[in-house]
Amino acid sequence: MRFDDIKAAYDDKVMCTYRRAEVAFERGAGCLLYDTQGNEWLDCLAGIAVCGLGHGHPAIAAAIAEQAGRVVHTSNLYFIPRQAELAAELLPTCELDKAFFCNSGAEAIECSLKLARKWGKLERGGASKIVATHGSFHGRTMGAVTVTGQPKYHEPFTPLLPGVCHVAYGDIGALAAAVDDETAAVLLEPIQGESGVRVPPAGYLPAVRRLCDEHRVVLILDEVQTGLGRTGDWYAHQHDGVVPDVMALAKSLGGGFPIGACLARAPYCDVLQPGDHASTFGGNPLASAAGVAFLRTMKAQGIVEHSAEVGRYAVDRLGALSGVTEVRGRGLMIGLDIANGKAQEVNAALFRCRVLANAIGEDTLRILPPLIITEAEIDRFLVALEESLLDAGAA
Ligand SMILES: *Cc1c(COP(=O)(O)O)cnc(C)c1O
Repeated sequence: MRFDDIKAAYDDKVMCTYRRAEVAFERGAGCLLYDTQGNEWLDCLAGIAVCGLGHGHPAIAAAIAEQAGRVVHTSNLYFIPRQAELAAELLPTCELDKAFFCNSGAEAIECSLKLARKWGKLERGGASKIVATHGSFHGRTMGAVTVTGQPKYHEPFTPLLPGVCHVAYGDIGALAAAVDDETAAVLLEPIQGESGVRVPPAGYLPAVRRLCDEHRVVLILDEVQTGLGRTGDWYAHQHDGVVPDVMALAKSLGGGFPIGACLARAPYCDVLQPGDHASTFGGNPLASAAGVAFLRTMKAQGIVEHSAEVGRYAVDRLGALSGVTEVRGRGLMIGLDIANGKAQEVNAALFRCRVLANAIGEDTLRILPPLIITEAEIDRFLVALEESLLDAGAA
């Protein structure tokens, strides 16, 4: 299909819920993508932190093809061998004990919220309040959008879920003031992604953990974006030596194939019982095969360590660029503040250089490249960024 025909089909037949850039990709290899005209692009966004092993990875492709030829879907009415393998690969990467598999980040959050509410009912005298943070992002389903601390995502859809409040992110005093006997759970991202790569002050997560322990409140960490090697550890919470009670995962778990997971440690991992929660597709053979291939490749090739190293390399160089006023983040989750509020313009200039990144508001450029990105590819990004900063009038 020609690009113009693709666009015409969208105008006619696809709900216009996205502001799409003027390009359509047909194939990819590693950190490179190729559009309908055969142009090569450098992908520094990885489908928004999804394609951790890049595009066209042979291990992911082979696992999906092999599993598709055997059986794609059976049902959670039966045992699923690949789901068992996935659990066996996934749980040792963290401190949690059991997983529920679903299809997306929002679904992982929904499962976390239901788990916490049921815990509150059973063990905390009916405590049901969820405390989340301003500027957070947890997804677009009704529960997930309610806990998302951004009014622009709420307004068209009220009334939202009752019993949810938001406090300032990174402010332990504000959180302590909001947590009470009615509180079932505290939910937050260890680094806020969607609102501009916000790293909380040192000591915040450990203080949140202590607060939750004192009040017997479930600590849910949303590691949908930060998880699975993105920040140079398997999970961002490991950097702070904090263990959550419940953790939401998705994005890169299937190496690009849709799958999510809600993980919990004992005793929380036994709260949901048959009939409480379910997903038709969750952890089906095909999705699980992709997840197994992703995790085995991450481990075999030391990609988490690679992410930490290349992330340091990138951050060191990005901070030295004229027009970049601040560099935030960890590993390969990086936010750059751009001088003169020119983030959108710089992103547009990068796009003209056929480099994919993401602008957040007027000030922040976010890069979330495939975790396999090399120093040479970072250098290629830096050249394009330097040019784009000049072009956009930021440098
Ligand atoms: C992307 C994201 C979600 C939502 O995931 P979906 O798969 O789009 O539902 C939730 N939380 C965080 C932190 C995210 O980055």
